[in-house]
Amino acid sequence: MTVLVWFRNDLRSLDHPALNTACKDQQNVRAVYLLCPQQLDEHVTAPIRRHFLRRALDELGQQLAAIGIPLDIINAEHFERAPRCLNDYCREHDVSAIYAHTEWLVDEIQRDKDCAAKLELPLHLIDDSLLSPLSIGKADGLPYKVFTPFSRRCRDALAAEFPRVRRRPAAKTPPQITAASPCPIFGEEKDSSAWPASEEAVLRQLREFCAERAGDYKRHRDFPEIEGTSRLSAALALGLISPRQCLARLQQECGEDIWDSKSDAGTWLNELLWREFYRHVAYHFPRVVKGRAFQSATEAIPWPNDQALYDAWREGRTGYPIVDAAMRQLAQTGWMHNRLRMITASFLCKDLQIDWRWGERHFLENLIDADFASNNGGWQWAASTGTDAAPYFRIFNPTTQGQRFDADGHFIRRYVPELAGLQGKQIHQPPVSPGYPAPIVDHKERRNITLALFKAIRD
Ligand SMILES: Cc1cc2nc3c(=O)[nH]c(=O)nc-3n(C[C@H](O)[C@H](O)[C@H](O)COP(=O)(O)OP(=O)(O)OC[C@H]3O[C@@H](n4cnc5c(N)ncnc54)[C@H](O)[C@@H]3O)c2cc1C
Repeated sequence: MTVLVWFRNDLRSLDHPALNTACKDQQNVRAVYLLCPQQLDEHVTAPIRRHFLRRALDELGQQLAAIGIPLDIINAEHFERAPRCLNDYCREHDVSAIYAHTEWLVDEIQRDKDCAAKLELPLHLIDDSLLSPLSIGKADGLPYKVFTPFSRRCRDALAAEFPRVRRRPAAKTPPQITAASPCPIFGEEKDSSAWPASEEAVLRQLREFCAERAGDYKRHRDFPEIEGTSRLSAALALGLISPRQCLARLQQECGEDIWDSKSDAGTWLNELLWREFYRHVAYHFPRVVKGRAFQSATEAIPWPNDQALYDAWREGRTGYPIVDAAMRQLAQTGWMHNRLRMITASFLCKDLQIDWRWGERHFLENLIDADFASNNGGWQWAASTGTDAAPYFRIFNPTTQGQRFDADGHFIRRYVPELAGLQGKQIHQPPVSPGYPAPIVDHKERRNITLALFKAIRD
């Protein structure tokens, strides 16, 4: 008899509970990944993310081959076809059971319900979260809506029972296979080779970050020109590494400091907990995943949605240097620094008065680390429509944000070469010149319009 491991957004062989369980008493283990190009289209997956996914699958195939497990990539086109594809595959390979990790977003939950109903063999779903959305709740049993008490509760739970990191299963003897076939191309791609796609390389990145940069995280994390953050978001989004591995490594390097939310290491753990928080919200309040605002009243805001302003934002020609540099960083690299995500999201919603859903979609279309829950949470936070939203009257001033977080303008010069010749503080308020647009809106004026839009729905 053979058992099957169904890989999803968990493309690793280390610390993989489903793989470990499948391998426990079984000699014959196979693995599949269902490629769903239509689903990727529906989820507006970025070309750079597709390339990264394909590379990660190739790496996983090699990793699994080394322990004697063949990885087959099946083109299922769409989640709806998953049960049929799996039934066919399992008949052909005499598979008796399937193991996979639970996923907590609406479409994935529906896919798994469908599979449970239609599969001809048992599907064992195993939780792979740092903290399952079902295990963390308030004293009254209701889900959390505010981050700080959520994170406190998570920290207590993690300190009480530190999550175990599992080893890679031992190689099968004799090995069933020697090599994996490469993953086919499935849609438009953009080169992602600047991002490591192998488990080894990602683990090295984690180790380096925890040893060399986690200790200065608070001091450096807000400055886009400094490599002060881990840049692990793409690997976490595809599950090349687990949050448990991150936590374990962080503790190894920084010790008990990790439990102090004000320490550097504790601040980094907090970021991992933001990720958990947005998953918690997306699971318990699935309307946010369906394009609805968490705070229903804000649905009534009549966002003017000026297409020309949106295009200028998207293309990085707003006349606000830090916004333009950030948008060009996204276009060129498929990634954007967190501080800049906050600035550009605030600018789109609060200075240009464009519906946050437009920005949310643009980020999904371009980010290598697109994660539906985190992206939605970030956008609703910036637009003041979400759970732990920024108060609507707190509106970033894009000029002072640039002065504060890119004081010397090094980051701006890198991405906005038209301004490279400007000296000192001029870079944040460049003189009118033929090469670079004047600000497309007046921040003070637009701020007042936004305040009025929010005030109207409050009244
Ligand atoms: C408008 C907006 C959209 C965003 N969209 C995404 C997205 O699609 N995917 C994504 O992974 N993150 C998103 N974030 C969160 C954050 O910007 C990125 O996780 C971070 O920039 C990734 O860089 P890093 O790996 O160096 O992070 P680090 O600072 O090293 O943090 C470690 C990890 O913690 C998680 N994390 C950090 N900050 C947050 C946060 N605010 N919310 C949730 N998780 C966090 C990420 O997994 C990150 O890799 C968004 C934030 C905003 C404001």
